[in-house]
Amino acid sequence: MSMGAKLIVEKVTKRFGGVVALNRVSINVPSSLIVGLIGPNGSGKTTLFNVVTGYYTPDEGQVLIEGSSRVVDITGWNPDRISRLGVARTFQIPRLIPSLTVLENMLLFYDYGSCASITCSLRRKWVDVEEAAIARAMSILREFGLESIARKRPAELSAGHLKLVETLRGLMSDAKLFMLDEPFAGVESWMARKLTETIRKINREKGSTFVIIEHRITELLEGVDYVYVLHNGSLLAEGKPGEVVSDERVIKAYLGK
Ligand code: ADP
Repeated sequence: MSMGAKLIVEKVTKRFGGVVALNRVSINVPSSLIVGLIGPNGSGKTTLFNVVTGYYTPDEGQVLIEGSSRVVDITGWNPDRISRLGVARTFQIPRLIPSLTVLENMLLFYDYGSCASITCSLRRKWVDVEEAAIARAMSILREFGLESIARKRPAELSAGHLKLVETLRGLMSDAKLFMLDEPFAGVESWMARKLTETIRKINREKGSTFVIIEHRITELLEGVDYVYVLHNGSLLAEGKPGEVVSDERVIKAYLGK
């Protein structure tokens, strides 16, 4: 089994003008854990994702990834370089390429290994790898009863299907760390449950680590091992799902009192 990556965020601060979006936030996600990141609107969840995946550089603090027994300080790295280290990220607003079909969009996220470069010049090997990629994409779509959308383009999909494909194509990769931004948003209940099962299966089989932002808290809490709660840019609470939902501070933050 390939191992997941450990994610360490150390005292990260991110400001936008006068707004402190993240205020000395530290989280420590052990390898192969499925973690939820919750908090009211504007609490800093997406900013934290953007800092970890290289879309923003923090003003202070560090982001470290530990995989294959070495620790890498990725603070300030660009998104491409971070993704090549084995970090896959999906977006709250789907970023599918409009001119490509669903299947083609998914194939972009497959890890082609050495066949991603010129070294894979043997046609037979290339064809094998491509067939494996297509088989994987179709098997994922089939699990969700979505084979029929494989040849469709993003503009032809419902909002829920679009969101689901955004997440499923992220899951095509062999990442060590998956960062999923609101994977359940707009997705039918049974598919959200199926998605939780799929995430658990990948976690079990490959040991991948997951960090999931989600507003649908009840569904999220069924699928995660541990939860971090952000509030006004600071870490408000953390713990097992059961502990966090009964935490007075968390209840207050959500009720806005
Ligand atoms: P969440 O994902 O929890 O809803 P965000 O991380 O999107 O919260 O936002 C946290 C705070 O940072 C908010 O006050 C938001 O307005 C601000 N913010 C986020 N991104 C930017 C940006 N690019 N420019 C200015 N302010 C931003």
